[in-house]
Amino acid sequence: MMTAVETNTSTSTLPNPLSAGPCCRFCAEPLRHTFVDLGTSPLCQKHVTPAQFDHGEPFYPLHVYVCEKCYLVQLPAYVSREAIFDGEYAYFSSYSETMLAHARAYVEQMTARFGLGGRSRVVELASNDGYLLQYFLEKKIPCLGIEPTANTAAAAQEKGVPTIVRFFGRQTAREVLDSNGPADLILGNNVLAHVPDINDFVGGMKILLSPAGVVTMEFPQLLHLIDKNYWDTVYHEHYSYLSFTTVEKIFAAHGMELFDVDEIDIHGGSIRVYAHHTDDGTHTVSERVHAMKARERAAGQGDLKSYAAYGKQVEEHKRQILSWLIEQKRAGKKVVAYGAPGKGNTLLNYCGIRSDFVEFTVDRSPHKQGNFLPGTRIPIRSPDEIMDAKPDFVLILVWNLKTEVMQQMAAVREWGGKFVVFMPQLQEC
Ligand SMILES: [Zn+2]
Repeated sequence: MMTAVETNTSTSTLPNPLSAGPCCRFCAEPLRHTFVDLGTSPLCQKHVTPAQFDHGEPFYPLHVYVCEKCYLVQLPAYVSREAIFDGEYAYFSSYSETMLAHARAYVEQMTARFGLGGRSRVVELASNDGYLLQYFLEKKIPCLGIEPTANTAAAAQEKGVPTIVRFFGRQTAREVLDSNGPADLILGNNVLAHVPDINDFVGGMKILLSPAGVVTMEFPQLLHLIDKNYWDTVYHEHYSYLSFTTVEKIFAAHGMELFDVDEIDIHGGSIRVYAHHTDDGTHTVSERVHAMKARERAAGQGDLKSYAAYGKQVEEHKRQILSWLIEQKRAGKKVVAYGAPGKGNTLLNYCGIRSDFVEFTVDRSPHKQGNFLPGTRIPIRSPDEIMDAKPDFVLILVWNLKTEVMQQMAAVREWGGKFVVFMPQLQEC
């Protein structure tokens, strides 16, 4: 049994990042410049159950800064990684066909390009449920997953993918180096943005990488967040919003060089960077690297003023969304939503959209039905209920799956209903 004192300690473990003012997680410069301030929001993956409905929820700031010295765009660690990536973490990569196809193609490409075989060692950071490493196993290439969330790691082990349940950093790197030897390929897809201590994480890769080894990291590129207005992808598990140029600086500080880059269309505009030890002459820096840096420079990413404009753009977008909703409600229209993604919660909480504007949302996952969205408490129901409610508008919160949703819910048009997306721009369709 826990004593009252122990309970107190366990619920107040969050350090206050503002106690001495937030500092850059890479270069330690004090953070003074706002990129965008989305107010406060609860953790976007923690749905409210009926039993929790009469209780409060903690809200944390979504105040994103840009560092004036290294231009790393970042959310201070208002919420610890342990509080987000826990044993109940809800995202299993294998549920997505797109992710599986992407993983299989990646394994084919890397095996061919870097001549990987039975004597190579592959390590994946944040290996989730083994959705990617299973394809290395098929090729009999030894691999190891490092994954902090116990439930997804257990699913990987069931597939036969060796996995250790741990956060990655220098300490874990030394342990894996001792037990498994150096890695010829270290990969991390959609994880670099999710680490609060980016120096410890990149420093760990430096330790674990074999002398001629290669690191590949995939992450959503800041350029697209800005150009395509994806501000709803700001949430607490995304600690950093990365550009190629900033990631190059971070790797260089840890003795590694980015020698190539690919653009990939997953998650609405990501890049994959390739790194090696700076003193490894095996790979020459590709023309694509120079072109990518030139493109980021041309977009103003070396100029503080261009970052400051983003917040104003987001505020105006919020006014457009609210004007549209107010107009519909005054005209007596019924609006419901489709999907319960993390990004939808940033959008709804920042704009203050509750069931006064959007009566309910729907999700195909039975685990989510019957619960409520965090903060806004919009009920989550089964997609069938849209057919009964016959709304005038279905707001697609999973806007990246817009085409799929409109096909699946085509019956909405039978009663004259329409679809609407708010991101990246408000559009009735
Ligand atoms: Zn900095």
